[in-house]
Amino acid sequence: MPTVAEYNSPVMPTWCPGCGDFAIWSAIKQALVAEGFGPKDVLICFDIGCNGNMADKINAYVYKGLHGRVIPAAAGAKLANQGMPVLAIAGDGGTFDEGMQHFVHSIRSDYDITFIVHNNCDFGLTTGQPTPTTWEGQVMNSAPWGVVEKRLNPVKLALSLGASFVARGFTGNLPQLVSLIRSGITHKGFSYVDVLQHCPTYNHFQDHHWLSERVYDVATKEDYRNERDYAYSISEIADDGVATGILYQDKESQSYMQQLPYRKEYSSNLIDEVKGYDISASLAEFR
Ligand code: SF4
Repeated sequence: MPTVAEYNSPVMPTWCPGCGDFAIWSAIKQALVAEGFGPKDVLICFDIGCNGNMADKINAYVYKGLHGRVIPAAAGAKLANQGMPVLAIAGDGGTFDEGMQHFVHSIRSDYDITFIVHNNCDFGLTTGQPTPTTWEGQVMNSAPWGVVEKRLNPVKLALSLGASFVARGFTGNLPQLVSLIRSGITHKGFSYVDVLQHCPTYNHFQDHHWLSERVYDVATKEDYRNERDYAYSISEIADDGVATGILYQDKESQSYMQQLPYRKEYSSNLIDEVKGYDISASLAEFR
């Protein structure tokens, strides 16, 4: 049985004291262990940003790519090796500014990856500029008169695009976050886990206390229904309540590879099938 200690790296975190990244870091490790996966069983892909500083602080197969481009790398790896859990980690800035198209098309394709967004409403690594999830009117670095753009709601967007798994967690509730990531890993298809992450250095408007007073678990609602329209109706980050938990899951969903008609007769992995071909000439071009 794998242990959390196996995931520990000798490189110590450099996040600001009190940063929500510590909770996400812990939740990812705990979720993988709880699902029985050790560091050699998984691939974790990171975007650029404070989230990406986790890449050398977790002992596993990791990949760190260009800003906003983590999803294509993760999806490609998963298509090649269906037997390996693949997690993609990014921030709200990289995802909903530079990487928006990848988010849209991965939901359409239902690539079988778990996508975890550190949603802290700012670009933290570059010192607190606004992202698409920053509150309208909020004063930020590079927006000294307040953000004029309308705020984007990632959960609402994912639901409207037809995502088969949409969850929202909070870095102040570690057990729930572990549970959401576990459910995302076992889901067949694209699982989106939006994490309301505390950034005490640059986000003083939607901070830990603001969120703590408003979050509730949808599972505790008497009228909760696992329906897309219902999830949509409770998806706002509102002053009178912020829904967390699995907001919607299509439990019958199939991954992209499962849906491809010509792959139905295959039980093998692309990484094994390619061994039957001589690709040395192609590889030589990159040497
Ligand atoms: Fe965390 Fe914000 Fe500091 Fe980045 S800037 S490490 S997100 S507290």
